[in-house]
Formats: sequence, structure tokens, C-alpha cells
Amino acid sequence: MTLTDSDTTLAPLEFAVTKNLAAKSPAQREEILAAPAFGTVFTDHMVDICWSSRGGWHRPRVQPYGPISLDPAAAVLHYGQEIFEGIKAYRHADGSVHTFRPDRNGLRLQSSARRLALPELPVEYFIQSLRELIAVDAAWVPSGEDQSLYLRPFMFAKEAFLGVRPAQKVAYYVIASPVGAYFKGGAKPVTIWLSEDYARAGKGGTGAAKTGGNYAASLLPQAEANENGCDQVVFLDQDRNVEELGGMNVVFVHKDGTIVTPQSDSILPGITRDSLLQLAEDRGHTVVRRSVSLTEWREGVASGDIVEVFACGTAAVVAPIGVLKGRDFVDEQPIGELALSLREELTDIQYGRREDRHGWLVRLDA
Ligand SMILES: *Cc1c(COP(=O)(O)O)cnc(C)c1O
Repeated sequence: MTLTDSDTTLAPLEFAVTKNLAAKSPAQREEILAAPAFGTVFTDHMVDICWSSRGGWHRPRVQPYGPISLDPAAAVLHYGQEIFEGIKAYRHADGSVHTFRPDRNGLRLQSSARRLALPELPVEYFIQSLRELIAVDAAWVPSGEDQSLYLRPFMFAKEAFLGVRPAQKVAYYVIASPVGAYFKGGAKPVTIWLSEDYARAGKGGTGAAKTGGNYAASLLPQAEANENGCDQVVFLDQDRNVEELGGMNVVFVHKDGTIVTPQSDSILPGITRDSLLQLAEDRGHTVVRRSVSLTEWREGVASGDIVEVFACGTAAVVAPIGVLKGRDFVDEQPIGELALSLREELTDIQYGRREDRHGWLVRLDA
């Protein structure tokens, strides 16, 4: 085989590992893993890689989990130059630890980085960073039903400079938190509030990037949803087309089996959605990515043409939508079986209970 520029592989980084001397005891850890709550407890270590415009990626480390020291002038604190990812590690019945389509998360982190004028972490380094954390914290990957270790890679501008331009010093970290089923007592249908006054993103904005600012913009409408008795909020674009929830994509199932999901440059392209739609296509469903207006949604439900609506994302996997509520209407949504059946197929693959025919799993502990 001859090597050309395009297929040379990057040499792996050499991580310096500092073990946490105050790591939780096995008994303390087991107690936490018995009932993990989303994003509240973190493992004993974290990964940290520095980047500078002069030195590129350097100082890769695994170190004890703990506070980060930042200059008060760090650009992220003022201008929000930050991106992140969310991906899980699953323990299989034989004890091995796997993750799901990490190349996709690595590529998405790169596209988020381009939009936020941050450096692009090579996908090889991204996947290596997950492996390095698992190498020291594998015992934190729980083995209970629907449990996993949620990995949160993130990158931010740490340069101390109040001028407005892309930072020349950046930090990349990975932290991890054991999680259980997102919805206790199974995936019961969620109620959705239609945000009329607020948008999470706009044309040409940062909607397709996984960046904290989009979440900051969703908090007030999310609070409005809660005040109106709803679990989540759904956003429209300026033409009243359906975008997505604060952190989950939306999928519509039609009577003839066709599956439709909103397509737009201001929607975050979910890997869960992509995978569920691939599984549906494998079953013979036609999948269409196009704009979906609010009117089409409401009329489709009223006429019986839409037979199921669900939301999806890594954290919750799949959430059937039971009610769409607006300022002056409440639309009960039809509940079908496809969402939960696709959810089961996907999680069976992730937990190694079913053949991984698309080669989506990557083993992390070997
Ligand atoms: C992360 C995220 C999703 C879901 O993406 P997955 O890759 O499926 O986890 C959907 N919408 C937004 C806004 C997100 O940040």
C-alpha cells in the first residue's frame, strides 16, 4: 500500500497521567452507580488538552477531576466562545466498554469549532481522549439496565483578552458522569410547549453548532414551557417551520409509514436521529428530510395522517410527544409503537444485545 497525504494517520498524543489520590473508594462509587442522577456526579479524572495558535495541540493530560483555574478576562466568560459534545459509554454483558459512532461526534465537534472560530480537534485525538479517560475511569461505567457513562467533551476560549477576535489560547476537556434512564418509569410521553415569542437560532446563526449560547437562549422559553405545565419547548423558524426542542430533534411518522424530519441549517444534526432513521430505513420506511410547517404538523395530527411524533437525542434517546400546547390550543398527539420499537433496537445495539450491522460501536477499554 502506498501512503498518500489523505491516508496518512496522525500519531497518537502522549498523555501524561496523574492519578487522583482522593479517588472515590469502590464502595462509594458503587453507591453512586446504584442510583446515578443525570450530570450531578463526576468520575475521578478528566482529560485536558491545550491549544495555542503558535503551538497547536499540546500538553495532553489525564488529571484528577476538579476546578479549573481561569483568568477573569478569559474570552469564554465574556463572549461565549465555547462548544461541546455529548456521547455515552455502554457496558456490555461481557464487561467490555463501547461507545457509539464517536467519529460522528468528532466530526460534529469540528464543524461546531469552525462556526465558533475555534480550532478543529482531529477526530483521532477526539476518540483517543475518550479512550484515555476510560483507561483510568472504566470502573465508573455502570452495568445496570439503561445505565451508561455520559461523556462530555468541551472546548472553550481561555485566552485572557477582552478584544473581540478568535482566542489564540483554547482548552479542550472531557469529563464524565454516570447516568441512568433519563425518564424514570420508562419513556412516558412528554408535553411540549410551542415557543411563539422566542427562537433558539436564526438563519446564518449558530443553530447547527453544539454551543452553550444556543442553550442559554433556550432557558427562558424552557422556563415558560414549565410555567405552562410542559416538559419541553419546541422552536419554530421565522417562516413558522418546526425546528427542534431545546436539545432534541423532532421526527414525524405518517400513516403510510413515511418518516419526516425537519431539515434546516439552523437545526443541530443529531446522531441519535440519524441512527434511528437509518434503522427505520433498514425496515423499509421511507425517510424524508425537508421543512415541516407548524400548520402541516397540526393539520396532519387532526386528519390522522400523522400517527406518531417523537423527540430524540443522546441523553434521553427517544421521547414520544404526547401533547403539543400553544398559547391558545392543546393538541393531543397520537401515540404509536414505532418510536419505542426503534428505541429498543438502537439501545440493543448500543448495549451489545443485537448485531451491530452498521459497525457503529467502538470499543474503548482495549
Ligand atoms: C445534542 C443535541 C441534539 C441531539 O443530538 P444527538 O447527537 O442525538 O445527541 C439535538 N439538538 C440539540 C440542540 C443538541 O444540542
